[in-house]
Amino acid sequence: MIKSYNTVWDNCLRTIRRNVNTQSFKTWFEPIKPVGLDNNALTIQVPNKFFYEWLEEHYVSLLKKTIRQELGDKGRLEYQILMVSNRNGAAAASIPSTRAAVSSSTTGKPVKEVGLPGGIDTEHIKNPFVIPGIKKLKIDPQLNPSYTFDNFIEGDCNRLARSAGHAVAKNPGGTAFNPLVIFGDVGLGKTHLAQAIGNEVITNGTNKTVLYVSSEKFTNQIIESIKNNAVNDFVNFYQLVDVLIVDDIQFLANKVKTQEIFFHIFNQLHQNGKQIILTSDRPPKDLDGMEERLISRFKWGLSADLSTPELETRMAILESKMIREGLDIPYDVTEFICYNIKNNIRELEGVLISLVAQSMLNRREIDIDLAKEVIKNFVSQMSKEITVEFIQKLVAEHFNVPVDKLKGQTRKRSIVIARQLSMYLAKNLTNKSLKSIGENFGGRDHSTVIYSCKAVQDLLDTDMIFKDTVTDLEKKIKMSLNEK
Ligand code: ADP
Ligand code: MG
Repeated sequence: MIKSYNTVWDNCLRTIRRNVNTQSFKTWFEPIKPVGLDNNALTIQVPNKFFYEWLEEHYVSLLKKTIRQELGDKGRLEYQILMVSNRNGAAAASIPSTRAAVSSSTTGKPVKEVGLPGGIDTEHIKNPFVIPGIKKLKIDPQLNPSYTFDNFIEGDCNRLARSAGHAVAKNPGGTAFNPLVIFGDVGLGKTHLAQAIGNEVITNGTNKTVLYVSSEKFTNQIIESIKNNAVNDFVNFYQLVDVLIVDDIQFLANKVKTQEIFFHIFNQLHQNGKQIILTSDRPPKDLDGMEERLISRFKWGLSADLSTPELETRMAILESKMIREGLDIPYDVTEFICYNIKNNIRELEGVLISLVAQSMLNRREIDIDLAKEVIKNFVSQMSKEITVEFIQKLVAEHFNVPVDKLKGQTRKRSIVIARQLSMYLAKNLTNKSLKSIGENFGGRDHSTVIYSCKAVQDLLDTDMIFKDTVTDLEKKIKMSLNEK
């Protein structure tokens, strides 16, 4: 009996649902439409290229497993990528219109084949140590070429790490930054930057051998080599590398044997002037479960952190992403996203893509309302109310006065204005009573609040600059997620 693609995909979804959390399922799998089944190849339609890359990066083994379960060992997956219109008609001319593509699935292209038998095997590293003695072994660097310096946006949050990375890429092993340890929270660009260095070394054409490996893979290789009695080959293999990038070394914690072998490899490479680049989710000194002698080695070079990007950098990152993906999203919506997703760039990109997907699927305009719905999937404690405290904080920041002073008795002009404006905004943007607003300002009574609102209104009617300030502040406050 021949199964229809709908049935096949429905079955896949059932498995997938059991293997990913609800949020990921909603974000990444619900928007997928099965569109064809031919010669063991199931074709699924995804909203855009980034969506496809995301699936490939994060879910390739799950997809592979499920497809094989449904279609047998010859099962393959093909993607059909829908395209998005570019409102300005500028860049990305090859991209047909969203609406057209939605209504006529045949316009969706290109079709891309991935990850499954016959395709590119993204998972598998060839057992690297079967060729002992061969010095000029061609090693696949295991890099993702799309992680470059060009698209790694610079900001205060990453300036040191980025420029150190650049220096290292220009002169691997020849700077004081050896090892270069890039550390920071999840989703802030460690992998991107580390890989950009690797890619840059290769682009520079110095014939250096670069190898990127995750700590997880490194550990597995070691386990494998121990099993096969091939630890020496393993260590020898790593000696062939000129630039070694080990990602997420916090995962080496408490792995005694792995650390021992890594220590050995590290020393030999370092002694031979080879470059080592490490990433970690915390500074070396805080790596619990890591041998002291390793930690002290990590401190030899430079540890540079990636911190959370400021608003402007988030905007720049999102805009650059949009240009590359040929997406076009109204400015106020990007701004809204960036206001609300602060701590994780991967999430920022996730919201963007999910937004585009939702708009196509539901044929809805991309606007702030839709963005709110999408962001809810990403931000755990949403429905943050606008509170009087929040307003006080923003206003105080804006006027550069301490929050306490808003509640105090100071009659200084700048503080009085900040205080009155906070009351005015609290009255307009929250549903607190005048009485309770007054209480938030050091126990003032409701008539004071009324008086303040009137004073602000008078200023608004006469002072254009003040009016602009208030509009900005209002926007800023509203921009913070405020469901009811
Ligand atoms: P980490 O390894 O720290 O968890 P990643 O390197 O995977 O984070 O980055 C998460 C996402 O954010 C990636 O898609 C990456 O390209 C993007 N990203 C991070 N920092 C920047 C930046 N400065 N400019 C552009 N994109 C960035
Ligand atoms: Mg990473």
